[in-house]
Amino acid sequence: MLSKVVIANRGEIALRILRACRELGIKTVAVHSDADRELKHVRLADESVCIGPAPSEMSYLNVPAIISAAEVTDAMAIHPGYGFLSENADFAERVEDSGFIFIGPTPHSIRTMGDKVAAIETMKSAGVPCVPGSDGPLGDDIDINTKLANKIGYPIIIKAAGGGGGRGMRVVHSDATLQNSIALTKQEAGTFFGNNMVYMEKYLENPRHVEIQVLSDAQGNAIHLGERDCSMQRRNQKVLEEAPAPGITPRQRKKIGQRCVDACIKMKYRGVGTFEFLYQDDNFYFIEMNTRVQVEHPVTEMITGVDIIKEQLYIASGEKLRYRQSDIEIRGHAIECRINAEDAKTFMPSPGKIEHYHPPGGPGIRVDTHIYGGYTVPQYYDSMIGKLIAYGNTREVAIARMQGALDEISITGIHTNIGLHKELLHDANFQKGGTNIHYLEKKLSL
Ligand code: ADP
Repeated sequence: MLSKVVIANRGEIALRILRACRELGIKTVAVHSDADRELKHVRLADESVCIGPAPSEMSYLNVPAIISAAEVTDAMAIHPGYGFLSENADFAERVEDSGFIFIGPTPHSIRTMGDKVAAIETMKSAGVPCVPGSDGPLGDDIDINTKLANKIGYPIIIKAAGGGGGRGMRVVHSDATLQNSIALTKQEAGTFFGNNMVYMEKYLENPRHVEIQVLSDAQGNAIHLGERDCSMQRRNQKVLEEAPAPGITPRQRKKIGQRCVDACIKMKYRGVGTFEFLYQDDNFYFIEMNTRVQVEHPVTEMITGVDIIKEQLYIASGEKLRYRQSDIEIRGHAIECRINAEDAKTFMPSPGKIEHYHPPGGPGIRVDTHIYGGYTVPQYYDSMIGKLIAYGNTREVAIARMQGALDEISITGIHTNIGLHKELLHDANFQKGGTNIHYLEKKLSL
């Protein structure tokens, strides 16, 4: 097992990683910015190292500072969490070249999945269903592109191979705007992602976002932990997630899960990962793979009993996967609400000092957060300050428990989106289940 791990992240996920390490008897090193001295996990870690000033570029994205923190503390491995450097293949490479274990996939896997064209090619060859589209990047010949668009059928979407965070995409409805849209997306892609390669896909009009969690040990063993539904989104940002996805049958789960498992084995994938799909008319369409732990991993933990971060640590220490597929049983239902420090109306970040914090409790309630009364939410980072997770034997019980937890939780001094979650948990269509990715934005625009 790993002896000492550098946690190269902040906030709730840093605390989550610390807790998993502590359970396994692994020593922890918290690396933090100047603005984050008061973070809960910094106080709880065995050691801590300040790696730079508040702005992320100078601290949490400062590769030499993170590696030297691992060197001076004589750590064995680096856990990148999510966001920041977690999907940066160059970072993973630097970590390994410096003699440390990167807790995640190989730089090669990260690089391949970071290039959407390469990712789709890999998935297609492994038998994972993809969105109908161009085989590879688009060329400059407008006649060929027009023919292709008509063959796929409008509307289509032009996407940047190097895109991310919901940027570098453009929907096209007819031949008239096709050429111009391709040119514009290419230009943007070049500017934002340093890679002007774009490709074409069928634009699915009413999909849900359903994703499959996998664990894979790069020794020929992989399993899936079922799916999550993350359709409740605003501006491509997930707001509320649940597992299992309403209406997905055990047969569908088994089939799509097995495709993902086969792909992991084929590409010798190492670590945890998520296959993201758009789901429409009973079909799954792969859009991208995340090669790291995800914010919403707790809902899967609640319904499977598998501690995903601990398994990440086991896999990174070179152990064979500790579960077989037949060990995994989906039980009950879990919902996660992302709690953000933001204005309820404008959604603008609302940093500042938390006066009082009263956590909710009771059966089936889990809170993953680093906040405490008197803690100041800094202005420099993402506005998510925690996650509220409710579990029940049925979806109805999970909803009722979440409603109770949202009424119980109290955070004063800053603005939060707790009100929005209360509204959602009482929304008749959410209660029915199966709303698509446009539902929340439509509701908010009313
Ligand atoms: P990113 O890496 O920027 O998040 P994704 O490929 O995951 O890009 O797509 C982000 C979002 O864009 C999806 O969740 C979905 O809402 C929308 N989207 C992407 N591709 C399609 C498509 N083919 N049809 C409909 N919507 C799409």
